[in-house]
Amino acid sequence: MYYPHRHLLAIEGLHPPEITHLLDLAESYVLLNRSGKTQRDLLRGRTLINLFFEDSTRTRTSFELAGKRLGADVLNMSVATSSVNKGETLLDTAATLNAMNCDLLAVRHDQSGAPNLLAQKVGAAVINAGDGTHEHPTQALLDALTIRRRKGRLEGLTVAICGDIAHSRVARSNIHLLTTLGSRVRVVGPPTLIPAEAERLGIAVFHDMRAGLADADIVMMLRLQRERMAKGLVPSEREYFHFFGLDQEKLAHAKPDALVMHPGPMNRGVEIDSAVADDPVRSVIKEQVEMGVAVRMAVLDTLARVQRRNAL
Ligand code: ASP
Repeated sequence: MYYPHRHLLAIEGLHPPEITHLLDLAESYVLLNRSGKTQRDLLRGRTLINLFFEDSTRTRTSFELAGKRLGADVLNMSVATSSVNKGETLLDTAATLNAMNCDLLAVRHDQSGAPNLLAQKVGAAVINAGDGTHEHPTQALLDALTIRRRKGRLEGLTVAICGDIAHSRVARSNIHLLTTLGSRVRVVGPPTLIPAEAERLGIAVFHDMRAGLADADIVMMLRLQRERMAKGLVPSEREYFHFFGLDQEKLAHAKPDALVMHPGPMNRGVEIDSAVADDPVRSVIKEQVEMGVAVRMAVLDTLARVQRRNAL
């Protein structure tokens, strides 16, 4: 068993073989999905609850698809329709979920650490589907799978993560995963959007896109997360695009075969120009979405196996 943990709460702290196990298994699910087959016996009789306290399009639907393709009963609980709006606390919600005997719980919350708290209180295996500015582990796994499939490796690649690093759980999970598997990671953005911890994590910091993109193999763009910004940390969207938006001219500083990535949702014309986002050769944004389903299948499958083993 290469992945021994009960939950998937963060990439930080995972060892290379644990990450590689999830990526290798996801690889097999890409092939299964492309063949149009399913493996409905794997999670038959198991219940997956998607508990989303924050908006989501790709993550929630891909967890749902992943669960269904493996035969789980899938239930979506969103805040708009749950008792959380009536003042029920996170821990009361946990008690309710426990009473329902759910096996797998994918949680998204605007507070960093909420999935960790739930993991201590529920019997289910908890998957962090994005918590505040902390981590979004399945996003980093799907990004890594996309890169590995295209480039054949992660080790030795130069990855430039650009934009609103400070508020991005995607950036944080990617930094941990990519440095653990031997990529060279740089962050590029205005000083107001680069967290102080960047240098402590041993990654190069650039405030100029052309310098930051020079010779990069991967250019990963991030959304300006205005909903998490305390105050206006960027002047205007027009000015932001001028300096930090990815267009063909800035992309030309990266390697000629550099790939463009974005976790979505995209703000076209703010952090990325449509011509780049939709470039059929350079952009792998749609492929990231496809990998998302396979990665979530691998995570659900793995955690269910750990559960079975622990039950013995
Ligand atoms: N979808 C990603 C997340 O949930 C990125 C974003 O929202 O910008 O973190």
